[in-house]
Amino acid sequence: MQVPLTKEILDRISDAFFAVDNEWNVTYFNKEAIRVLGRQKEEVLGENLWEKFPEAVNQEVYIQYHKAVREQEAVFFEMYWPPRDMWYNVRAYPSSNGLTVFFQDITLQKELANKQEDHYLSLFQNNPEAVFSFDLNGNYLSVNPAMEKLLGYTEEEYIKMDWIPLVIEKEIATVIYHFQKAINGETTHYETIALHKDGHRINVKVTNMPITVGGKIVGVYGTARDVTKERETEKRLVDSEKLTAVGQLAASIAHEIRNPLTSIKGFLQLMKQMKGEAKEEYLNILSDEVSRIELITGELLVLAKPQAYDFQLINVGKIMEDVVTLLSSQALMSGVDIHSNIEALPEMKGIESQLKQALINVVKNAIEAMPNGGNLYITVRNKGGAIVIVVKDEGVGIPKEILNKIGSPFYTTKEKGTGLGMMTTAKIIQTHQGGFEITSIPNQGTKVKITL
Ligand code: ADP
Ligand code: MG
Repeated sequence: MQVPLTKEILDRISDAFFAVDNEWNVTYFNKEAIRVLGRQKEEVLGENLWEKFPEAVNQEVYIQYHKAVREQEAVFFEMYWPPRDMWYNVRAYPSSNGLTVFFQDITLQKELANKQEDHYLSLFQNNPEAVFSFDLNGNYLSVNPAMEKLLGYTEEEYIKMDWIPLVIEKEIATVIYHFQKAINGETTHYETIALHKDGHRINVKVTNMPITVGGKIVGVYGTARDVTKERETEKRLVDSEKLTAVGQLAASIAHEIRNPLTSIKGFLQLMKQMKGEAKEEYLNILSDEVSRIELITGELLVLAKPQAYDFQLINVGKIMEDVVTLLSSQALMSGVDIHSNIEALPEMKGIESQLKQALINVVKNAIEAMPNGGNLYITVRNKGGAIVIVVKDEGVGIPKEILNKIGSPFYTTKEKGTGLGMMTTAKIIQTHQGGFEITSIPNQGTKVKITL
């Protein structure tokens, strides 16, 4: 390094720079090196590097420089220099007459990077949501304190195990499915049931997302939140709604049965006073009232016990034919002409006795809507895999404001009606996961459509 021009350039470049000969004696030391290392030029020039910087002997930098000289290959590394509390980015190039070293003060960048890392670390550590990371094989890499609290294991325990014992058995497939999705680059959200270390179950909402480093997916990040309380509250709400519904139903049943019971009681008392000479007229009334109670309780039983029946392969067309036969005499008496068009249908899974009851209710209503006769059209069609049943009458119809009352228990406009038919029908169709729809125009007629 004797060319004056080069010397000037070297002095001016912003990198710190020094050179040593084959005996590690310093042959050059530029201005930036003076600043960064905090030494004077006169102090080090011509001196042995390791004598001037004894703190470095046998340290990383010492090993790297010797390696460069030994292998005659450049080395690049970052180093922390405790005497100055500084970070350097070092490039050392060996040559036949020694080693030249360029280095930069990167203390500021390092501090910034550390600060950023601290920010991220605190986001991880202080996050109220459980946060965890997996490698591609589903082994835990890290978990935060919220995750330790969520399932009761320490980070060391997590890292030693995989997640399979942490969810209930029937959820394992779901968890694998979402993990695979994340590995393939998709962020997914799902809910599952986890097992706490002490054995109790926890409903958790989980998010899985890929960890990408340099454009490559290297693992999966997860977050989890305990939603057990929310789910319990929801369940209690649904339960209490059910209770209210049952309570309302019980109240209306009591009300409906009370009327005939009052009349039965009255007539029984009357007959008691008559000392055995029961009048046939009274007996008829008693029998009528008892029949009414029988009818109401009978319909309610269909409602109450849908799960007691088995789903079997049935033919809806055949059931409708039976219903038409069953009701043909009633139709005849009211002067109603039934026009039925029933297509050949594939068999479907259903409960025959229930569906028959549902169809009887609908066809009976249609006949009852035409006390002075009319046409009743019944079609059963196979429409793209669904079975569509339409029952259309030319009867009195239903005013719009009443339409939404149809199907509430005991809503009836008939003197001898129970108001349970449509409710039962709707419930049965619901059990069969079908659709039920009523459209009507007053004084023109009503159309009931059932899709199965
Ligand atoms: P019910 O037949 O015992 O009255 P439903 O639940 O079967 O009880 O029907 C409830 C009410 O809905 C009937 O009273 C009637 O007012 C109305 N309704 C049902 N179907 C028809 C129809 N096809 N045409 C006109 N009104 C109907
Ligand atoms: Mg009815």
